[in-house]
Amino acid sequence: MLGAPRAPTQEPRAYRPTWAWTDEGLVRAPVFGVDERGILCDPRGLPVEDRRGLLVPGFVNAHTHLELGPVPTAKQAGFVSWVAQFRAGAPPSAAQAGRGVFQAIRAGTAALGEITNNGWSQGALTAARMPARVWHEVFGIDCVDVPGDVSGRLTPHAPHSTHPNMIKAAAALPGPWSIHFDEDPEEAAWLASGTGAWRPFLQRSGRDLSAFPIPGLSPAAYLASMGVLDRRALLVHATCTRGADLDLIAAARVCLCVRSNEHITGRLPDVPGMLDRGIPLAVGTDSLASTPDLDPLAEAAALRRAFPQIAVEVWLHALTAGGADALDLPVGRLTNGLAPGLLLVDVPDEDPLGALFDGTVWPRRWLACPEA
Ligand SMILES: [Zn+2]
Repeated sequence: MLGAPRAPTQEPRAYRPTWAWTDEGLVRAPVFGVDERGILCDPRGLPVEDRRGLLVPGFVNAHTHLELGPVPTAKQAGFVSWVAQFRAGAPPSAAQAGRGVFQAIRAGTAALGEITNNGWSQGALTAARMPARVWHEVFGIDCVDVPGDVSGRLTPHAPHSTHPNMIKAAAALPGPWSIHFDEDPEEAAWLASGTGAWRPFLQRSGRDLSAFPIPGLSPAAYLASMGVLDRRALLVHATCTRGADLDLIAAARVCLCVRSNEHITGRLPDVPGMLDRGIPLAVGTDSLASTPDLDPLAEAAALRRAFPQIAVEVWLHALTAGGADALDLPVGRLTNGLAPGLLLVDVPDEDPLGALFDGTVWPRRWLACPEA
């Protein structure tokens, strides 16, 4: 079982864990001060408590859909089949959003990049005082006009499911923006030539195909042609992106959700190719409609299993500072002046980072809460 959702408000104190993940990497027995608001501070003069385990900033889950509950869908049937099965399942709900926030906090999540369809998750996150970047999702290749009520927090679903006006509008807003990207080969087929399994799906959905200008480009080249790829762009999945297309998205960021990829398409992104190009990485669980839980650590363990040649430090950075940078939120680092949430993970003293990502559901508990 995971630890208590939140530590109570407490007096200023200092902690000396066995290990901590700091700006300098893994450090043995550092001392951190934390004030009554959960803000890291100078530990001098504070009573020090020794704690066994690995202290990390609370995890950042950079891509979730908290309103979506579990939906039974066939494995590795592809995105077009998955979305059809998903639509036949349970609809999103406010109750599920509340459960999702609770599960996220229990899993050690300090901050979320959340995709909402109904606004319910915003309410649940606000009630929990959880730091989050919440975007309202828009669909429709034939929806030409940008909806004014969500223009301040817009996320187009994907390049193959949204009119380019939405993508340009989202990228023109200040701050980070996010889009599902190159998740399945049918996305590329539609954008390149208007063919493939996505076309009959759109027709069955009653979309006006004539409203969408087929760009004749790959997903990466299509976004690059709009001039929207910079570090504010968080591309979710990039499962199928390879070679020269990775060069095109090197100016952006990628959020990896490999458990969702393994379920929906059975494919894995070219993570070594992303690292070779210096693409900043974040980690997301995606929704319960394609993953078994909302545990960012389990997501990173799946990455460790899929890419054993990649150093474990890459995954811990992506789970913390990488996600914080992608969402532009002041969490993800054990830095004085921040309130990133102090999370103690009960891993063995020997090789704590190796153990952290070995797939065990390690007990973890909050020593201090993140501050929204
Ligand atoms: Zn998603």
